[in-house]
Amino acid sequence: MTEMLRLRARTRMIWSGDTLLMQLGTHNLRLSGFAEAQVAALHELRAGSSPDRVRESPWMSALLDGGFLETVAHPSDDPDLARFDRLLNYLSELESAEVNRFDLLARLRGSSVLLVGLGGMASWVTYNLLCCAIGRFTLLDGDVVEASNLNRSILYTEQDIGRPKVLAAADRMRAFAPRTEIRAVQAYVTGPDDLRDLARESDLVIGMADQPPWLIKEWVAAAALATGRPFVQASGGRVGPFHTTSGTACTICDWTHQTDRQPRYGELLRRQGMLPRGNSGALSPVGAITSGVVCLEVVRYLLGMEPTTANRIWEFRGDLSSGYSDCPPHPRCGLCGNDEPRSVTPAASLAQR
Ligand SMILES: [Zn+2]
Repeated sequence: MTEMLRLRARTRMIWSGDTLLMQLGTHNLRLSGFAEAQVAALHELRAGSSPDRVRESPWMSALLDGGFLETVAHPSDDPDLARFDRLLNYLSELESAEVNRFDLLARLRGSSVLLVGLGGMASWVTYNLLCCAIGRFTLLDGDVVEASNLNRSILYTEQDIGRPKVLAAADRMRAFAPRTEIRAVQAYVTGPDDLRDLARESDLVIGMADQPPWLIKEWVAAAALATGRPFVQASGGRVGPFHTTSGTACTICDWTHQTDRQPRYGELLRRQGMLPRGNSGALSPVGAITSGVVCLEVVRYLLGMEPTTANRIWEFRGDLSSGYSDCPPHPRCGLCGNDEPRSVTPAASLAQR
């Protein structure tokens, strides 16, 4: 590890002749008489190289006093620092006195997520999370790759047809981001018990499976709630509510609000469950857009920010508009509510069959 001085990435530099105005937030610094060699030194400082020579520059004390420089421990043999250079610049916007961009990157690289369901949206989610430096994944799905997946599941190729999705996905992810830790679990979920241990071993759970309808969402929510893990579920252009473990709404709060509005919702689900399973339409760009929202929410949360879908649902509509609707905690939610009688959950509703 070598210690370096780097120019903070948010620094703006405005030239006028041989005068340079540097801006960082509300700080301004005017440096006059800049020669070519000094400009080169400044570029090196921005890149974080040749600190000794640059340290001798006469304007260094002005930069230090103005807070334009940061000291960073730079593990120079870490190939991911080059890979995530632009992400680091983005993270520099979120720096504070306590954490710098490398701390924030380490937080993302150290985070583990459980992905339940590896269909079309999960393909985009996976690539997005790899691009955002998430370092540890558990993949859970029982399906094999089918030709009909390839209109939206960009993780897979025609050579993968017939292979378990989790294995094909793990191969593709390792090829894209070799230093990522990936655990592939090929299994169908039959209840919350199948998910509890996997949830416990992860920092966050992302539910993207849609079969069996609502049941799988209840199982994901139940397992995450039982293990105290935050979770977000998404399907069909809909994201949330993001459960943050601090009393925000869960997926079954959403279900309960829907049954309040439509008391026969449970019965409709029951009837739907008795019908032969059809194949719904799926358009890749919708999954791509929705996955972007999921990943922004996950990354925001892991960096310590409140997700925008806590107690809300984000929805993408067919006319290319999008928006939020409120989804507060439901006091009679069958999973997280405190009021009695608790509302009937999807699983309990189906058990009435
Ligand atoms: Zn709830």
